[in-house]
Amino acid sequence: MSNRPKNVVILGSTGSIGQSTLDVIRGTDSLFAYALTAHSRLAEAALQCQEFSPHWFVGTCEEAFSARESLPFPSETEVLIGSQNVRQVVQDDAVDIVVSAIVGAAGLYGTIAALEAGKQVALANKESLVMAGHLVMRLVNEKGGTILPVDSEHSAIFQAKLAGKEKEIKKIWLTASGGPFLRRTREHMASVTVAEALAHPTWEMGRKISIDSATMMNKALEIIEAKWLFGLQADQIGVVVHPQSIVHSLVEFVDGSVIAQLSPPDMRLPIQFALNYPDRKTAVAETFDWQQAMHLDFEPPDLDRFPALGLGFEVAKVGGSSGAVLNAANEVAVSAFLDEAMSFADIVPACRSVLEQHNFETDPTLEQLIELDRWARQEVLRWTR
Ligand code: NAD
Ligand code: MG
Repeated sequence: MSNRPKNVVILGSTGSIGQSTLDVIRGTDSLFAYALTAHSRLAEAALQCQEFSPHWFVGTCEEAFSARESLPFPSETEVLIGSQNVRQVVQDDAVDIVVSAIVGAAGLYGTIAALEAGKQVALANKESLVMAGHLVMRLVNEKGGTILPVDSEHSAIFQAKLAGKEKEIKKIWLTASGGPFLRRTREHMASVTVAEALAHPTWEMGRKISIDSATMMNKALEIIEAKWLFGLQADQIGVVVHPQSIVHSLVEFVDGSVIAQLSPPDMRLPIQFALNYPDRKTAVAETFDWQQAMHLDFEPPDLDRFPALGLGFEVAKVGGSSGAVLNAANEVAVSAFLDEAMSFADIVPACRSVLEQHNFETDPTLEQLIELDRWARQEVLRWTR
């Protein structure tokens, strides 16, 4: 690549990861926001376009665009309407890296389109790997693209792995904050409110992933994500609760050495790392003052109070269509909980039940996964009130 800035596409620029990505770009002249996409909050997206002057903006939700005339998109940005335009934008020859930061299954198509064109993908949308890890990794191998993890745990593993050889890795340990209910009894879990579940102790994130963190389904999805991303067996992945969210994950090598990555809980660091890889640039996020006292605690997770973790390990082990079914059931269950149509304590049992009932496929095609995704979304509604 020449000396020009790297051209970055942000899928989901109005989201939590999208905004953090723009903050990283704001701090440097070596990255250019080449294209942005958003589903709603278009007035906010228009302001982003005014500030960053991307070549393209894609509004993925056509209905949200009814009031377009009054939105202040700048004249230098071409505005495209409809999710079918995402493919054209991410596959543009000038694009260097695509930040996949749409929430949920909707993020899969952008990830796939970018990898089909052999692009680098900075992957925040873990659902892409949870749903279709075998297809996504096959595309990486066939088309020569790369995935650079943005999820903080996977970024940490990616960085820590550099300390040894692939075959010298014994196990990876994903750290988990434990979320807002780390110390709640099982009885109290039944009466959890939406506001309590959204109040994450260490991270500020979008609503869906915040609920996933409260059930620890987020860690379950991350186990599956790690299996595909790093080519591991389920039993090579462990989870350790670390309430401070400072050690973002650990790699244990065969000789017993454990290498960890530490930084304050701020997504701008893993995003910045992915966008600049293999280089490192001056921090945009806060850094530590190592002269201040600090405590780091670790404890094993409670699999009884957080049954999502067991599901994560099972799905990572059996693979096939189970990731897509778990993901779809969970998305709908989380949204039902947010709408107060499902109790917090029912989210994971509902997912387990849908998973157990589904027609398992060992090596599903994308079409089969989409069909199972549709079926699982319908099926989990039985658990709503
Ligand atoms: P968010 O809800 O804050 O933002 C989601 C973005 O996706 C928005 O820009 C929205 O317009 C867009 N979007 C929503 N539905 C869409 C659809 N149907 N089609 C196209 N675009 C759509 O979410 P977030 O917290 O930024 O999370 C984004 C992804 O990153 C998720 O997969 C999440 O698991 C992952 N992630 C987030 C964090 C975090 O700190 N927020 C950390 C690690 C991983
Ligand atoms: Mg994470």
